[in-house]
Amino acid sequence: MVSVIVQNLWKIYPPNVHALRDVNVEVKDGEFLVMLGPSGSGKTTFIRCIAGLETPTKGRIFFGDRLIVDIERGVNTPPAKRSVGMVFQNWALYPHMKVFDNIAFPLKIKKVPKHEIEKKVREIAEALDIADLLDRYPRQLSGGQQQRVAIARALVKEPQILLLDEPFSNLDARLRISAREFVKSLQRKLKITTILVTHDQHDAYALADRIMIINNGVIQQVGTTEEILNSPANTFVAQFFGDPPINLVEGEGRGEYVDLGDLKIPIMAPLGKLQIGIRPTDIYIAETPLSPEDLELPPGRVKLVEYLGFTPIAVVKWERTELRTVVYNRVKEGDLAKVYLKRDGIKLFKDG
Ligand code: ADP
Ligand code: MG
Repeated sequence: MVSVIVQNLWKIYPPNVHALRDVNVEVKDGEFLVMLGPSGSGKTTFIRCIAGLETPTKGRIFFGDRLIVDIERGVNTPPAKRSVGMVFQNWALYPHMKVFDNIAFPLKIKKVPKHEIEKKVREIAEALDIADLLDRYPRQLSGGQQQRVAIARALVKEPQILLLDEPFSNLDARLRISAREFVKSLQRKLKITTILVTHDQHDAYALADRIMIINNGVIQQVGTTEEILNSPANTFVAQFFGDPPINLVEGEGRGEYVDLGDLKIPIMAPLGKLQIGIRPTDIYIAETPLSPEDLELPPGRVKLVEYLGFTPIAVVKWERTELRTVVYNRVKEGDLAKVYLKRDGIKLFKDG
């Protein structure tokens, strides 16, 4: 397979929409990269530039050491010569074609001989467990089956790179989980360099070797799940990535401690205004600390207890400050609770 190297990539739509601003990334050979960002952040534009369906305004793209795009030098390889398979957001199956012909379509375009088309379509359909659906029309398939057909169509040419644009957004929550597992194990089996774009952070947890977070056309951070959770580059990343969502409060660095007004947290902090991020999983209500390192905060009032997934989370209130915390002992609304904080659970930001 092959790596994907993107250098100084810009896309400006007329009259003046900056969809991508100086994107730089290297996707390794065989890697599964998930690009995560809110709606309108430039994700679709990015993979369309990789596929060759969109011409960037500036920049370079390499597949391995093969130059694919260099706008300054007038290089822009047509999509058919890129060895890329793409799965579109709405799957974009041809409604008037049977599954067989949908999958066969990219091969027909390439004028592959008929017997070979027959063989390749059957092979990929076997691999994706849709061989018994080849005579149906897309409307006769479930969402999950339609998605497999779209993936089969993307893979039938045996591309070196697989691009997926929000492939799970049309699936209900239960199907999404099995579809993710399917895509992940397929990617592992084929070892195909893969870029999947999504606005759903759970896709990233489930699939990514590395995650690239984008906002407003600007790459915010690239890293593993742990790197991004533990050391978010800025408040956007901290708030966008992490479930349950991070607590983000304003405070003041005082050298020896962080001042939240009614709460003073004894950790080293630069002087001046700061944003303080604390993940709910790094602050907890318990009878005794989980580790002797953990800091004991003044007791706080339990304002409410809710379940986020299976984890009970309390909203704890001091005089003004409110923080979401995990709960390790039985508390109810109105209780005064002991609260502990993991020492490395404090993230300080100068931005925002
Ligand atoms: P995402 O996939 O993250 O939702 P897009 O790449 O679709 O984001 O869009 C990024 C930005 O570019 C948005 O502001 C969008 O409105 C704009 N945009 C996308 N396609 C076009 C186009 N063909 N012409 C003009 N603006 C576009
Ligand atoms: Mg999109």
